[in-house]
Formats: sequence, C-alpha cells, structure tokens
Amino acid sequence: MTNTLSSRDALASVPTELLIDGRWQPAEDDKRLTVLDPATELPLCEVADASPADGMRALAAADAAREAWAAHPPRARGEILTRTFEALLAREHELALLMTLEMGKPLAESRGEVRYAAEFFRWFAEEAVRIDGGYATAPDGSGRILVARQPVGPCLLITPWNFPSAMAARKIGPAVAAGCTMVLKPASNTPLSALALAAIMTDAGLPDGVLNVVTTSSSSALMGPLIRDPRARKLSFTGSTAVGRQLIRESADQVLRVSMELGGNAPFLVFEDAALDAAVEGAMLAKLRNNGEACTAANRFYVHERVAAEFTDRLAKRFDALRLGHGADDADLGPLIDAAQRDAVVELVDDAVACGAQVATAARTLPDRGFFHPPVVLTEVPDTARVMQEEIFGPVAPIQAFSDEDAAVAAANRTQDGLVGYVFTRDLDRALRVSERLQTGMVGLNRGIVSTPAAPFGGIKHSGVGREGGREGIAEYLETKYVALRA
Ligand code: ADP
Repeated sequence: MTNTLSSRDALASVPTELLIDGRWQPAEDDKRLTVLDPATELPLCEVADASPADGMRALAAADAAREAWAAHPPRARGEILTRTFEALLAREHELALLMTLEMGKPLAESRGEVRYAAEFFRWFAEEAVRIDGGYATAPDGSGRILVARQPVGPCLLITPWNFPSAMAARKIGPAVAAGCTMVLKPASNTPLSALALAAIMTDAGLPDGVLNVVTTSSSSALMGPLIRDPRARKLSFTGSTAVGRQLIRESADQVLRVSMELGGNAPFLVFEDAALDAAVEGAMLAKLRNNGEACTAANRFYVHERVAAEFTDRLAKRFDALRLGHGADDADLGPLIDAAQRDAVVELVDDAVACGAQVATAARTLPDRGFFHPPVVLTEVPDTARVMQEEIFGPVAPIQAFSDEDAAVAAANRTQDGLVGYVFTRDLDRALRVSERLQTGMVGLNRGIVSTPAAPFGGIKHSGVGREGGREGIAEYLETKYVALRA
C-alpha cells in the first residue's frame, strides 16, 4: 500500500475515546473494539467500546445541555456549522484517507464524500437562521394564532458504515441548526470518521454536551435503554430495513419521533429512446459508487429489448476495465465492508446463475487478502432470482429486457422498497409520466446520482419515514408550538 506514512498520520490524529459532555473519555471498564481495514483484513486501531452505562451518561449529558443549547442564538449555531464546513474542506485529504482505511472505498470517492458531508454543514448553517413561524387572525376575529418552531430535544442518531461522514453530517447538521442536543452512535466497523468529525465540531466551538459520541460493539444493548428513556425525544436512523423496523417498535414506548432512512431496491429503466452514453455513465455511477454498497444503488436494470444487447455489452466492457485494489492506491473499486457482506453477494450471484442467468463480464483473479468481490453484469436474469428481489449491496448488475412501458413500470414497482428509481429516456412526456408512476421517494432522470444537501432525500414504503436535506431536513428536528392569543 502506498501512502503508508500519511495513513499513519491520519490514524494518529483521530481521538479514539468516547465524547461525553465535551470530554474524551474511555469506556467505563476500559473495553476497546478493533477497527479493521477491509482491504487487508488487518487491524487499523482500537477505539473505546462503550457499555450501556456509558450510553446513559451520554444521554444525561445531552439532556443537561438541552435548554442552554436551545436558547443559543441561531446565528451562533449556524456559525459553528460554517466553521465545521470550512474545517472539513481544509482537512479533506486526511479525512478521506481515514474513511478509505476503515471502509474501503477508493480515495477519490472518499474525497467526494468529505466534500458532500461538508456541504450539509454549509446548507444547515444557512437554514439555522431561516426557522420561521406564523401569526394569524382567527377566522372569527376572536383571537390570534401564534405558531413557533422549537427544537425537539435530545436526539439519538444511529449511522451505518457505508457513508461514515455523510450520514453523520446530515443528521448532526440539522440537529445543531435546530438547537437539538445529541447522542451519535456510529457503526462499529467505521467509527473513525465520526470521531474525527466530532473533534472538528468541538474545535469549531460546539458547547459541551451538545454532541456526544459513543462507539460500541453492542449497539442494541446500548441503544435500547436510551430509546426507552423519556429524556430522548427523537431517533434518526440510517441502516437496514430489518433494524429500522425493530427500532420503530422500540420507539413506540416513548412515542419517539422517528426518521428512518432504510433499504432500497432501485430500478434502473433504460427506454429505447435513451441516450445510451448517458445511460451507461449513469449505470456506472448508480451501480458502482461506493462499490454498490449504497441504499440508492441501482439494484435491477430493466432495459428495452431494442437496446438491451448494446447496453449490456458496453456496461460489461466498462466493468471489465475497472481495477480492483486498496482504495488508498487509486483503485477504481475497493473491497466490500466485511466477509459476511462479500459472502452474501457471492451467494446472490450463485443463485442467479443457478436460476439461468448468464455472466456477461470476464472472470478475474481477486487480491489474496481483503473482502473483494469482482464487478459482475448478469443477463437473462429471471424474476425468481433473489438478486431481482433483494438489496444486493455489492457490484452486481442484473439486467432484464422489456418490451413495453407498462410492463417496465410494473416490474419496477414490484417491491416493498421505494427509495429511488432511475429513468433514461429522451421523451419528455415519458420522462415525467414514468417519474410520476414510480413508487419511490426520489427519481434520477437521465442521471445516476440524486443526492445533494439541497434536496429532500428519503423513501416511501419500506424505505423509510422522513427526509434528510432540503427545506424538509431541519423540519425533522423541530416541533410546532401553537400559542392561542386573545384578540
Ligand atoms: P448495515 O446493513 O448498514 O450494517 P444495520 O441496520 O445493521 O445496517 O446497521 C446500521 C446501524 O445500526 C449501525 O450503526 C448498527 O450498529 C446499528 N444497529 C444495528 N442493530 C441495532 C439495534 N438493534 N439497535 C440499535 N442500533 C443498531
């Protein structure tokens, strides 16, 4: 691996303890958990492994800071976010390297994610001072209606490993802007980016107790009691649908407000009038960004029969040209996050082939170590193959040909997930018609990426509840207070 020295420097700069009430501190029993490099399977470092009691201390700190933080001037809250935005950009390389080391994605993508995360802080710095309310005359003239927005209170934020900075940024940004305090629990395989971000925010002037970070190997034992504690007022989770469903159930006891960004199963539709260059480019992004480990990843490709052969051929050639390797060595594709994820993808491909699918990409030799999976294009994949039904979370593109629009839309909607769909066509009427008919929270029209802090990101059906980013993002962290006034 190149960059050895700077990798060591990047690792040395990260705090590895828990952040509770503004103080970095070890877990109560000094337990540590090991963070691995998925490209080498070797340990990178250890971080504190919080116990449920540590979690409780973090929530107590968030609760203690609640009132003062809610009263902190919006402009001052926004300025902390602006300084965070600037610090992330200034330290882009170091933070990107850290992310590549713990998560595996190529350095160029990690750099992109650091910039993307930074943009959430810029966006929510601008939103902090735009929280508005209302004042109206009651219809019968007998009174006045005053409407104010207040922070919901202490929030529990749970983030996944696939976008270790961005998923934290799009929860912390609006929570800070709205005046909420927090306990953040990052995924145990990728705690470093979150810890580095917390240190940056502390340096940016975030008061003690506003953001508390607990890293742990026992997520449910730690988070369960926090979710059931009346001091917590909101839970924002990004992760799998199975865990999200469980957390919604746990949230029922305290009637917690929940925001859920859950799994996807995105259809990618290419019509016969599509610009094929754009469709192939879009497919590369929508399928291979983050090595396919994204809830927005194109999961099922439906391509019109007149262009299916050419699209498949071009996509397979692009896949075959990609270099697999350590993300810090300028590879195009890194490893998957762990052995379980890699094995799950292998199983899905084997199942598809057993169901009659053809492999359109070339066989290749994988690196000796690391959780690598080759990029694969599959054709003639029947609906019965698991790969057409389940979220793949890996670099595998199953393609089916279709002959008419209604059938394609019906196939696209044949899932309980509803996060995003991709549509490639040059016919404006069809573009809008199909966008409206897709049962998803988002549509990528002639493009393979939809995420931006300025737009409301989120899904319908089993893909989640609530939106992150856009004008909607901060609303998730605000309560509406109505005060009835006499005339
Ligand atoms: P992924 O497929 O991204 O690993 P998970 O849903 O398993 O998705 O995990 C997402 C986040 O949720 C991680 O931070 C993980 O530690 C956390 N998590 C998993 N199970 C639970 C649980 N029962 N309670 C609280 N947090 C959990």
